[in-house]
Amino acid sequence: MIVAVASGKGGTGKTTVATNLALAGPDRVRFLDCDVEAPNAHILLQPELEPGTPVRLPVPVFNAAKCTGCGRCVEVCAYNALALVGRELMVFEGLCHGCGGCVYFCPEGALEEAQRVIGVVERGRAGKVGFFQGRLNPGEALAPPVIAAVRQEAAAAEDQLDTIVDCPPGTSCPAIAAVRGVDYCLVVTEPTPFGRHDLEAIVEVLNILDVPHGVVINRADLGDGEVEGFCRERGIPVLGRLPFDPRIGRCFNTGRPVVSELPVWRQTFKRLWRDIRDAVKGAGAGA
Ligand code: SF4
Ligand code: SF4
Repeated sequence: MIVAVASGKGGTGKTTVATNLALAGPDRVRFLDCDVEAPNAHILLQPELEPGTPVRLPVPVFNAAKCTGCGRCVEVCAYNALALVGRELMVFEGLCHGCGGCVYFCPEGALEEAQRVIGVVERGRAGKVGFFQGRLNPGEALAPPVIAAVRQEAAAAEDQLDTIVDCPPGTSCPAIAAVRGVDYCLVVTEPTPFGRHDLEAIVEVLNILDVPHGVVINRADLGDGEVEGFCRERGIPVLGRLPFDPRIGRCFNTGRPVVSELPVWRQTFKRLWRDIRDAVKGAGAGA
């Protein structure tokens, strides 16, 4: 079972929920930190990390001696990563998605592929948690290939462990790369008009991707009833309502998991994991 923990925006408590689910839920679990621009689950889980595996992206390398200046490569590049200045081709590597189109279509063989490192996948262990995380190098823009590499490396492990994916916030390409193909997505939100707005956006994406989903409302005793109302209207199950507890923020700030410090929360996250399992089974039965 692969469960993604997502949120329509940052700061909802997504990583707190994901890490505490991992610690309180299954007996053994795999945890993927796919928030590759700012991975921070390791602060709470404290895994011992092994040396990482670089994530590479192919980029074109230009051979001026073979180029006729036809401009075909510039035409086929959908990402504006190429510009022809006279007979000199400029490659903007930060924009290149590594699709290989320019290399394929160059009629003169003036382009070849080289590999560029854009990030790293690290793995390790924290007690019962098999831990994987991706890190996008500073200044790089393309998070999805690093997320795909994290998911591939975790999928290559031969055990059949339940997996929790800590997704990037939002609804853009990185979030989609993290959530695509999972069995269930738990959306962490807050009971505010902004929370409802961001929830609507991510629910739309999950419906398009056909990913079954439910909601956990963080700081549920603050704010208004907008999120509850939206979930009722759409028939989205609210699997958990976590009250505001200033001790949770203190745990996060000191890098200590809530379920280790506050036993009452261990029961809450155990229950939430059980409810997710039931929801996944229900979604499977209804499919
Ligand atoms: S590999 Fe693709 S994205 Fe990169 S420069 Fe060539 S056509 Fe553009
Ligand atoms: S397609 Fe090839 S030959 Fe034409 S401009 Fe680009 S690199 Fe030069």
